[in-house]
Amino acid sequence: MRCIYCLETGNPARGRPHVVPEAVGKNDIVLPPGAECDSCNAYLGQLDNVLAKHPLVALGAQLLRVPGKKGRVRRVIGTVRQAEKERAIAIPVHAEECATRDGSTWRVTPLVDSQFDDFKFRRSLHHVGLNVIAYQRGIEVALESRFDPVRSYVREPKPSEKWGFGQLPLFNGISSEIRLLLVPDQGMVAIGMRLFAAAFYVDLLNSGALPAWIDGEKANSPDLRYWGPADGVPVSQVWDGKPRFEVLIDLELPNPSSAK
Ligand SMILES: [Zn+2]
Repeated sequence: MRCIYCLETGNPARGRPHVVPEAVGKNDIVLPPGAECDSCNAYLGQLDNVLAKHPLVALGAQLLRVPGKKGRVRRVIGTVRQAEKERAIAIPVHAEECATRDGSTWRVTPLVDSQFDDFKFRRSLHHVGLNVIAYQRGIEVALESRFDPVRSYVREPKPSEKWGFGQLPLFNGISSEIRLLLVPDQGMVAIGMRLFAAAFYVDLLNSGALPAWIDGEKANSPDLRYWGPADGVPVSQVWDGKPRFEVLIDLELPNPSSAK
C-alpha cells in the first residue's frame, strides 16, 4: 500500500496508525495497516506529542484523567499536572492573574510551556485532519493530488511555514469522547476535531476560506477564534519553568468511563 504521507510504496508498514494520536488519549480509532509507513509513523509520533501538550488539550485530558498510550493517567501533560489531592489538577499562572475577579467569576490565564512548539502543533492538527479523510473517505481519497500540499506541510514543511486553524474552548461541554467531523463547505476540506476541552478546525486545502467560515460560525460559538499564520502565544503567557504560582482546580466531574 502507498503511504499517504511520503507516497512511497516500498517502505515497511507494519503498524496500524491511530487517526488521533494516543499521546492525546488512548483510543481505538485506527487506519488500515500500511496507510502510514513505519518511517512516517515514527516521525509523526514526535509531532503528535506536541498536540497533547496544547494547554486546552492537556487541561481537558488531565481534568478527565484520560489515560495515555500506556493506559495510565499521566502525572504531567505540558504544564498541567495531577495534584496530590484526588480529582484536582494544578496549572501554573502569573500571580497577578489570580486576583482578577469579575462578579462571581475568577479569571485565570494559564501559562504555556516555553517548550511548546506552535509550528509542530499546527502540523499535528493537519496530520489528524488528513487521517480523518483517510478514515472516513478512504485511503484512495487521501492520496488525491489536491492533498499533496498538506502532505508536504505535515511531513516536510518549508522553513517557518504555518497554516491557520480555528480554536474553540469547550469548558461547558468538556467530554472524554473524541469527536471527528468533516465540515461540508464549498472550496474547503474542513475537518473539526473535538479533544476534551477544545475543538479545532483546519482546512486541508489551505484555501483561505477558513477565516470567513469561522466568522459565520461565531453566531453559534462566540468563543471560536481563527489563529492565522502570524499569530502565536503572547510572551506574557509563556511559562519559563521558574518558581511560580499555581491554581488548583478541584472539580466533581462524571467518571470518564461513564461520560457520554
Ligand atoms: Zn511514509
